[in-house]
Amino acid sequence: MNTGHEAEMKAAKVIRMNAGRQIAVAGHRKPELEGPSDVLVRILCVGLDGTDKEIITTPYGWPPEGEDELVFGHEMLGVVVDAGKQAGLRKGDLVTMIVRRPCHDPACVNCRNGRADYCQTGAYTERGIKGAHGCLTEYVKDEDRYFVKIPPACMAYGMLAEPQSILEKVWDEVQRIQQRLVWEPKRALVLGSGPLGLLAALTARCLGLDVHVWSMDDKTSPEARIVERIGGTYQQAPSPSSASGEAGREGPASLTDYVKRQQAPFDLIWECTGFSPLAFEAMSALGPNGVLALLGISSGDRKEDVPADQLNLGMVLHNKCVIGSVNAARKHFETGIYRLQQMEERYPGIFRSIVTERITLADVPNIDFGKVKIKTLVDIVPEDRWAEMAKAASEAAYSFSV
Ligand SMILES: [Zn+2]
Repeated sequence: MNTGHEAEMKAAKVIRMNAGRQIAVAGHRKPELEGPSDVLVRILCVGLDGTDKEIITTPYGWPPEGEDELVFGHEMLGVVVDAGKQAGLRKGDLVTMIVRRPCHDPACVNCRNGRADYCQTGAYTERGIKGAHGCLTEYVKDEDRYFVKIPPACMAYGMLAEPQSILEKVWDEVQRIQQRLVWEPKRALVLGSGPLGLLAALTARCLGLDVHVWSMDDKTSPEARIVERIGGTYQQAPSPSSASGEAGREGPASLTDYVKRQQAPFDLIWECTGFSPLAFEAMSALGPNGVLALLGISSGDRKEDVPADQLNLGMVLHNKCVIGSVNAARKHFETGIYRLQQMEERYPGIFRSIVTERITLADVPNIDFGKVKIKTLVDIVPEDRWAEMAKAASEAAYSFSV
């Protein structure tokens, strides 16, 4: 429906995507309902993550075709303010948004079957990342099938359903892969203690696993304290400059050294740093019959010598599996919300300690990712108004097993 005049709203965007990227808060066309399944959502809050940092600071991320700017942000919590006649959501419902949209190639069997996360052509779009505007703005519109309901009880941390969905997808994959044997995982290793690494550690705890986290952050850092609070073991990694040298006065000299000192092997490793040399080191650090899940983005062009023969031999002789995984499907958002609830029950207030910074839309251009302690949320609407805006939210019903 085009009414002839276009309403504007505020948006945080990366301008000059093709040269000299910079963040600006500027006017952006306010979306309107078009199709009968469309839903218009008022955004309450957006979480920022490593992908947003990459979009701002590296050539990663692409604007919509024919444009030179991108409204970024893809981890959102919002409330439905208008819905088409055939939409399966109602005004007042709390939602988060699925990030990826399918490609239009009729031969892409995965996109055609609702699994754009396995798009075969690479011609998918991702809201706030690739070819489509994102959520650091006041409203978004899309078809109802791209939104996932958030139960009102999860309002405070519903924006974390998207990062958690990444972990749920890979856990789903790991379970399928490990049907190849009798697998009784006991110990998990998480590489990196950013928001995704911490959620991975929490997921491991919810799955009943003993978890170790290997990261560069100081032993007294908030990240290390969170790992300890949930009953995990935190190990500070040596800085890369000292990593190739001898063992430090106390700590292990490398990940390989750390794993050698362990009494038992790691059955599962989540690589959440995107530091590619560590991803290769993790292949040898992985225990027999184990799975290494690679989740980190490395947008550089680093070249590295690897002990190729030893890696290959170890992989073969120990039935190891390495899997790369990106993005997620609806069911992973749903299991993700379930898991977040479980985490909050087991460790009350845990998400408050992961969210270390809260800013407004106007503050976004001043963000310095180097100074963010763990995770930043952008409150598009102040949190004390969310409950009132979502008071008509209906309960979410899911049909999955975990
Ligand atoms: Zn596709």
